[in-house]
Amino acid sequence: MARGEHPEIPTLARMIAYPTVSDRPMVELAAYVAQRAEDQGFRVTLFEDDADAGKANVVCEAGPEGVPGGVTLSGHLDVVPVEGQRWASDPFILTERDGKLFGRGTADMKGFIAATIEALDRVDVRALTRPLALVWTYDEEVGCHGSAKLTQRLRDAGRALPDEALIGEPTDFQVLRMHPGHVTIVIRTAGASAHSSKPDLGASAIKAMGRVLVMLEDLERELIGERRFEGALERPWVTMNAGMIKGGAAVNMVPDQCELKMGYRPLPGDDPLDVARRVERRLAELALPEGTRAEVEVLRRTPSLLTPLGLPLEGLLSQHADHHEVGACPFATDGGNLAALGVRSLIFGPGSIDVAHKPDEHVDRGALARAVNIVEAVVRARCLS
Ligand SMILES: [Zn+2]
Repeated sequence: MARGEHPEIPTLARMIAYPTVSDRPMVELAAYVAQRAEDQGFRVTLFEDDADAGKANVVCEAGPEGVPGGVTLSGHLDVVPVEGQRWASDPFILTERDGKLFGRGTADMKGFIAATIEALDRVDVRALTRPLALVWTYDEEVGCHGSAKLTQRLRDAGRALPDEALIGEPTDFQVLRMHPGHVTIVIRTAGASAHSSKPDLGASAIKAMGRVLVMLEDLERELIGERRFEGALERPWVTMNAGMIKGGAAVNMVPDQCELKMGYRPLPGDDPLDVARRVERRLAELALPEGTRAEVEVLRRTPSLLTPLGLPLEGLLSQHADHHEVGACPFATDGGNLAALGVRSLIFGPGSIDVAHKPDEHVDRGALARAVNIVEAVVRARCLS
């Protein structure tokens, strides 16, 4: 296909047709992007995990090994569900209307991945003088789970990636360098069951949880008082939410178990477990009803991101940016996990987060064409000079 005919569209159309919602298999899409990279001359590794059937992270490498510089380009292959949403067209068939390309994942973030694949068709990756890595992950939308697995595997194998990364999440071409993380914890209270006609023989786990909830509200107030990153974040404090609770077996029984699941969002650069430890300390000091106890467990953590200002990649992206300010991202990305490998990530890509996760998600055809040019320019500047 000749240049100027927007060759990025067939690749995106192909990618949108794989319904890679996070809870479904996505290995066919992984195989497709792996094949495209192999055809371009990359060395490709599929990282599968026994615990995650039907899923694979894809790492594609080109250029010399053991040489500093270069760039990592990264994105996630999964998308959020469409259930309960009213779409004007099939979300898994790329559809163009008025210069906009509609489909689940067009903005978040198959558009960027398709643009990258197309850009690399214009570059001879076998001739690179600095390393280039493509990192395509799974299950980003459910807590950056795939990239957590991948970074662990790469660390264990002693493998490195180019230490500046572009993650092409939809930012409307604004460079973002930080975001909060997310940690899920569960608090369990336990007591002793008894018939409700003899409550003095039991110890209510729900009453114990009531005191835990009061303690958590107090902690929430304390966290709101610890403001940081004002001006960068809309809520410059650690937000928390008690999201799910269950306990008790019958209305005429004193409940011996209660469980509360909650999430909190560590600020950029925070130790993700800091608040969990504070919860643990407060639980130890809490006056619980006699015969009850409480414990906390960390279920899942998505690290925050805090990339320093002034990276060479930032200078490069700023030349293509629509906003001069380097800002903060309201959502978490794989960049928090990549940081464990010493990779410093910037978030920058086509499309808007305002349309992501919603019905009629779309990206402008023009923005996609622009993304192809930008990725080509970034690769030439970072890997061919
Ligand atoms: Zn995303």
